Amino acid sequence: MTTRTELSSDQQNPTFAAFPAATILGYPRIGPRRELKKAVESFWAGRIDADQLEETAAALRKATRDRLVALGLSATDGAVPETFSYYDQVLDTAVTVGAVPPRFATADGDLDLAGYFRAARGEGDDAPLEMTKWFDTNYHYLVPEIGPSTAFHLASDRVVRQLTEALADGVTTRPVLVGPVTFLLLSKAADDAPAGFEPLSRLADLLPVYVELLRALAAAGATWVQLDEPGLVTDTIDVPLGDVLTAVTEAYRVLSTDLARPERPAILLAAPFGDLQEALPVVAGTDVEALAVDLVKGSAPTSPVRGLETKTLVAGVVDGHNIWRADLSARLEVLEALEGLGAGAVAVGTSTSLQHVPHDVADEPTLDPTLAKWLAFADQKVAEVVTLAEGLREGREAVHAELLAASEAVASRATAAGVAVAAVRERTAALTEGDFHRGPAQERRDAQQERLNLPLLPSTTIGSFPQTVEIRKARAAHAKGELSLEAYEDAMRAEIQQVVELQERIGIDVLVHGEAERNDMVQYFAELLDGFAVTQNGWVQSYGSRCTRPSILWGDVSRPAPMTVRWTEYTQSLTSKPVKGMLTGPVTIMAWSFVRDDIPLGETANQIGLALRDEIADLEAAGIAIIQVDEPALRELLPLRRADQPAYLDWSVGSFTLSTAGVRPDTQIHTHLCYSEFGEVIGAIDALDADVTSIEAARSRMEILPDLARSGFSRGVGPGVYDIHSPRVPSQEEVTELLELAVKSVDPALLWVNPDCGLKTRGYAETTPSLEHLVGAAVAVRNQL
Ligand code: GLN
Ligand code: ZN
Repeated sequence: MTTRTELSSDQQNPTFAAFPAATILGYPRIGPRRELKKAVESFWAGRIDADQLEETAAALRKATRDRLVALGLSATDGAVPETFSYYDQVLDTAVTVGAVPPRFATADGDLDLAGYFRAARGEGDDAPLEMTKWFDTNYHYLVPEIGPSTAFHLASDRVVRQLTEALADGVTTRPVLVGPVTFLLLSKAADDAPAGFEPLSRLADLLPVYVELLRALAAAGATWVQLDEPGLVTDTIDVPLGDVLTAVTEAYRVLSTDLARPERPAILLAAPFGDLQEALPVVAGTDVEALAVDLVKGSAPTSPVRGLETKTLVAGVVDGHNIWRADLSARLEVLEALEGLGAGAVAVGTSTSLQHVPHDVADEPTLDPTLAKWLAFADQKVAEVVTLAEGLREGREAVHAELLAASEAVASRATAAGVAVAAVRERTAALTEGDFHRGPAQERRDAQQERLNLPLLPSTTIGSFPQTVEIRKARAAHAKGELSLEAYEDAMRAEIQQVVELQERIGIDVLVHGEAERNDMVQYFAELLDGFAVTQNGWVQSYGSRCTRPSILWGDVSRPAPMTVRWTEYTQSLTSKPVKGMLTGPVTIMAWSFVRDDIPLGETANQIGLALRDEIADLEAAGIAIIQVDEPALRELLPLRRADQPAYLDWSVGSFTLSTAGVRPDTQIHTHLCYSEFGEVIGAIDALDADVTSIEAARSRMEILPDLARSGFSRGVGPGVYDIHSPRVPSQEEVTELLELAVKSVDPALLWVNPDCGLKTRGYAETTPSLEHLVGAAVAVRNQL
């Protein structure tokens, strides 16, 4: 096999920029002990000042650089990416190019740290930038607002300063920015933009800022810079492909052809999260020096691509998005097969930034050691990349021991007890069409009405009540062993009793237990189901300072014992009103966990679906007449290519109906979705076949309802009338107005009255009056009908 060192040497081809043999596209920035989260929140609370925050951040950046170099990334050639951010990389790019809406700027026009956080979080009447999901991850970015008058200019030199800081410390980092095409594709039109305005139309005005920044980075000593262009792997953004490809050609003509080295650093264009497809030849045809492709979600082209001969192909063969240890031998085969592509050189990388996985498996002392061996968090993935690069360069023998260890881990995972459970597989294999369907909706509705005898416009809540300091304290004390299980559960029952009394006093029609005993709507079930593990320190940034600890779904899923029945039964024993049982749906459990990569997602979904089906049967047998299965994440796993979406919706919707279709006609199934933009999933929501669906609607003032009616949706619907994302208490008049709007597009016989989402993040001070107003409004509108 040809040695890579020869090919990539600068002497052989003077225009060829040598890219380091091993790299990653990004690294977690929150810190192994969530140091950044804590510092940022202290700054918000006024406990530390901006200088102290900057100091903590600089220390974290240094620790990250040191760690990455210690793990084997080269210190001197741009192998170490700089992906630090105080809040979000898209916001950082917006700040850098001067594209922050004027409402956040300080007197002299630019942003200080406080202004930066204002843009992220809002202040007073200034609404923050909108937040939305980053491709198919659980990370959320802030959506830039771009209009005809956005005055792009180089407004921040933070990127340059961070490079200088690293250089002074002996590490030549590779600054990472969102690329100009993706930046504009992800932006939305500013409020003052004319109808039909496309942010991408401002590309020519944006590019000079990137040029200026690239020049500044080169002058400061950058050898490489990374421009992230994941916008090129999806067709779900509403811009015609032709326009996107034209923009790519234009952008990189300006940045890589017209601006030549050494005026700028060499450019790595990174396309994580999927295949470039039609964009590949276009990107390969530009003069960027390196191209990073995702060979986990995507696959390598099978024949030579013109233009690659002058570039380094950074092969993303290590999964940046999931936590499984790689089969290094198989990955090395993928790398070896790239030889035929005619790339100038091949380097090894991760498929995406590692910001989507926790820091370090070694930091999980309570994890089962067998399971721990199958895992690779960020630090282990860096080592994998380094090993693969060595194997590619020096041959397999050089990394024999590492390949063997990885193969053993993979083999142990394939055969371990619990990974493939015959009884579980037999059950999913025996499923038939009938298991996924209930009888006619109208008959169910009649049977349910007869059983429940609910008034018109029944009121209910989405499930959780405020998770008070006392609840959290009790849980923490129990976890530490300071509070016995009995005492903890007594405390939770007392809490439930109060929540029931409150709901009865307010006059809510369908009660909930309040979810006091649940630490999290996914982890709670993960702890009770077989096939899952949970971590101690496995935090992953969700947005800003918010982190979650996804559970690890490693084996076949089954339910060793009922999970919620005794809590729900207890609650029902306290009241004569119907109590709604509360479960998290299969898709949401999967979307908020790390999922298996060894069996199809649809198989896992059905396994969870069956476990929930058994739980629902037990709830039903215990006399519970209404059961809600939450699927707030139904849209989250939606594939980034439209062609792949029907198959996804098929198994995801199927797993929901599998979990719910076993009930009697007079048992009412509810579901809850956390958003109001249904677009591509409106048909799927109908296909869930729930008797009642609650959705977010208060902020958009019931906008969804006419669309829903037009789509032919004729099931029970509870459009949220109280925005729980804000501490504001809506007045009874406001809620009444929203309900009057709702009855214009929804048959009152189908309309439910509820908040937008669960109340766990709220306090009682605002929850109680808000619910009083909600019930008052329901009664008032009911009486007018
Ligand atoms: N039942 C959950 C709750 O009320 C639903 C949460 C959610 O939609 N994210 O908290
Ligand atoms: Zn919700």
